[in-house]
Amino acid sequence: MTTAAFLGLGAMGYPMASHLTRLGETLVWNRTPGRAEQHAAEFGSRAVTLEETAQADVIFTCLPTSDDVEGLLDRLLPLLKPGTIWVDCTSGRPAAGREQAQRLQQAGAAFLDAPVSGGPTGAKAGTLAVMVGGETEVLERARPLIESFGGTVLRVGPVGTGFAVKAVNNVLMAVHLWATAEGFASLQQQGVDLDAALSVINASSGRSFSSENKFPKILKREFAPFFKLSLLAKDAGIALENVQEVRGSAPLLAQTAMLLRAAQASQSEDADHAELVKFVEAMFGHGTL
Ligand code: NDP
Repeated sequence: MTTAAFLGLGAMGYPMASHLTRLGETLVWNRTPGRAEQHAAEFGSRAVTLEETAQADVIFTCLPTSDDVEGLLDRLLPLLKPGTIWVDCTSGRPAAGREQAQRLQQAGAAFLDAPVSGGPTGAKAGTLAVMVGGETEVLERARPLIESFGGTVLRVGPVGTGFAVKAVNNVLMAVHLWATAEGFASLQQQGVDLDAALSVINASSGRSFSSENKFPKILKREFAPFFKLSLLAKDAGIALENVQEVRGSAPLLAQTAMLLRAAQASQSEDADHAELVKFVEAMFGHGTL
């Protein structure tokens, strides 16, 4: 039977790892150990030391950045069994994924970049979209485990391409969110009924995932912690890095990445990504930057 390990039980990793327990033994590790113990008590996983996770056949990571993954890889690489598959669900950097895949290959292990979309709600429901970069044969071996939390699991190309697609997805989401925030800040100053405006836009051609799912809550000033603004700013930065790598010119994406960085600097460390609207509102003179 396949043993899986999940490293990083944050807003995404905690619910994602819960689905693996249905398929077999699931080892869990978290930097702050209490969270792993809580997971074990809630879902029947087994909280272990970092070193013990090297015994797993498939190791999942879901950490803030590729650098954080690198830190764990440095410690685990000498302990891995040949044939191990490392599935990184972090929204990471393609170049880092390619380097990590090479290091793993030298140790007889394989790497898939498998970032996800759908937020903590999709993770809990097991309906995440998973964009996978790596060898088809490696994906097919890991697929049953990935499908335990993924409703859509698609290979998009060789190692690194999953991360590249995820960065584009998130910068697109940011463009929509930011543009909608600017539009609504301008409507607010024209005495428009904003709830009515949102309803009619959501029945019109300017609607988006952000206007349909985020803005009803934003208009109620609800900013539940869901997906950190710092993580969205990181993702837009990765999208920009990828544009530079191919020597392209993407002024709209570049501007969005820079605006997100400014918005992030103006908010608390744990601010949700929807809180970028506060920065946009301040640009219109509602409140302070
Ligand atoms: P969280 O901040 O909620 O969780 C981060 C996790 O990583 C925690 O378990 C934390 O441990 C651990 N961690 C942080 N730094 C290190 C480190 N240096 N070494 C070891 N462990 C570390 O993040 P999310 O779960 O929201 O996001 C994780 C990844 O998934 C990110 O790349 C994000 O961009 C992506 N993502 C997030 C989505 C969302 O809606 N939240 C949606 C899709 C993708 P500790 O408990 O000790 O702090």
